Amino acid sequence: MVRVGSGHDTHRLVEGRPLILGGVTVPHSKGLHGHSDADVVLHSVTDAILGALGLGDIGDHFPDTDPQWKDANSQVFLADTLRKLNLAGGRLVNLDVTLFAQEPKLGPIKQAIRASLATLLNLDASFVNVKAKTGEKVGHIGRGEAIGCHVVVLIEQDAHKSE
Ligand code: MG
Repeated sequence: MVRVGSGHDTHRLVEGRPLILGGVTVPHSKGLHGHSDADVVLHSVTDAILGALGLGDIGDHFPDTDPQWKDANSQVFLADTLRKLNLAGGRLVNLDVTLFAQEPKLGPIKQAIRASLATLLNLDASFVNVKAKTGEKVGHIGRGEAIGCHVVVLIEQDAHKSE
């Protein structure tokens, strides 16, 4: 069978933090605030996979009240979720990622994020799509106060392993 999942996340842009998107460190004067490394892309991907599996959300599995996740590399959350996917007899089919950022301009680094996600997910890059939108200068994203991300994922799952 196939199952679909969606993930969404937003983090605030602040000074004094690195900007990490989809595992790629992006040169910028600000970074995303969060308990972990605040990789808004990997959080959204993780949530989308958990959603497809019917396993709740990233906060259920990696609560931001847990000191072990302080400044954690979000690749750890994704890797653990991919193990859950595998145990459930699931495989990723494709992924569509939409980033929302007024700054920095993400057009030039979309392909780097795509390549990073393909590697982290062990998928051919042709099954990973990354789109970049601005905030049209309105709202918290348009004012450059935050970066948001939305992800849709499709998985195939062996029927006998689903609950
Ligand atoms: Mg997050």
